[in-house]
Amino acid sequence: MSDVPDAPDVGELTPPNRTLMGPGPSDVHPRVLRAMSTPLVGHLDPSFIEVMNEVQELLRYTFRTGNQWTIPVSGTGSAAMEAAIGNVVEPGDTMLVPTNGYFGGRMADMASRAGGEVVEVDAPWGEPLAPEDVEDAFDEHQPDVFGFVHAETSTGVRQPRVSELTRIAHEHDALVIADTVTSIGGVELRVDEWDIDVAYAGPQKCLSCPPGASPLTLNDTAMDKVLSREEPARSWYLDLSLLEGYWGEERAYHHTAPITNVYSLREALRLVAEEGIENRWERHREMAGALKAGVEAMGMQMNAAEEFWLPSLNAVRVPEGVEDGEVISRLLDEYDLEIAGGLGDLSGEIFRIGCMGYSARPQNVSYLVSALGETLNSLGADVDADAGVSATMSQL
Ligand SMILES: *Cc1c(COP(=O)(O)O)cnc(C)c1O
Repeated sequence: MSDVPDAPDVGELTPPNRTLMGPGPSDVHPRVLRAMSTPLVGHLDPSFIEVMNEVQELLRYTFRTGNQWTIPVSGTGSAAMEAAIGNVVEPGDTMLVPTNGYFGGRMADMASRAGGEVVEVDAPWGEPLAPEDVEDAFDEHQPDVFGFVHAETSTGVRQPRVSELTRIAHEHDALVIADTVTSIGGVELRVDEWDIDVAYAGPQKCLSCPPGASPLTLNDTAMDKVLSREEPARSWYLDLSLLEGYWGEERAYHHTAPITNVYSLREALRLVAEEGIENRWERHREMAGALKAGVEAMGMQMNAAEEFWLPSLNAVRVPEGVEDGEVISRLLDEYDLEIAGGLGDLSGEIFRIGCMGYSARPQNVSYLVSALGETLNSLGADVDADAGVSATMSQL
């Protein structure tokens, strides 16, 4: 007997019409969806080479960098992350990573798979790294590479004083890799001014683009290290010395670029350039500010202190009397509204509410605040839903 199925009777695709206010993906702009239904050309077609150049230029604008080596990596944010860590970290190198959130742990995992030795700088989940602790960790371990998470999606914390961290690293001759997945296009990020050597990002957070082609930028110092490795990077697919052939001067085949994802990224980045990057950061602050005012007026607390508040990901403490999972499924079932719960040390303690890209607009924010207030009340939490709605509306 074989288990091969007969032609399955699968219906047409009709996903529910969700409002995406979780940790990503965010709602995709209609113009980006439209760009995804335009015809394919070959990945070496002269017209596509032009598209590649435009995407690189738009990425430089969005990262605030002049780095020649700025590309979309085929794959999700984790692919860009692995391209960064797997190429920069050589066997025998030491990489310093943070312990204050979920993604520092992923950095550690990738660095050790690349053959690196991992050392840690500690801060509690829900707090940023303190430069003094980073300095101490450098003095103790003399790492070759330092990774940090600019916008920690698991805790809703924005790492402030980035220039101080990069200064410490450079004084110790180390390279800096920044996770900017949840900050790019949503929160102030200045790769060159802040002296970040390598930054990777993702398209489906504040760029409001479907996942699939993920921004990466390296300065010349970092690229020199990559191009002078003694051993090739362990991943063939993500080997930047080989990708150089496709994205560099030569434009030779390495792997087939995900054409449709590059189209969508181009349109998403065109929207960033039209809005203006600084206006876009400001819009995220305003929209998330109205959201924050609403949840605070209801009587709830933000998890992160005001100085480290991350507008693109709002971590709100779960109020007494309700269970986070019940609230999250009620919002999905009754309001078609997606938010998420906490991870790791903050599991069960916070809601994670995204306010990213096309989702960072008045209609989403007012809908979120009223649906959340209603739901919490109906599940028995003592929050003032009306006060929340009026606080939010007065700021929109
Ligand atoms: C989402 C995210 C990633 C991983 O991106 P994927 O697209 O899920 O692979 C990495 N770092 C941070 C901070 C993120 O929020």
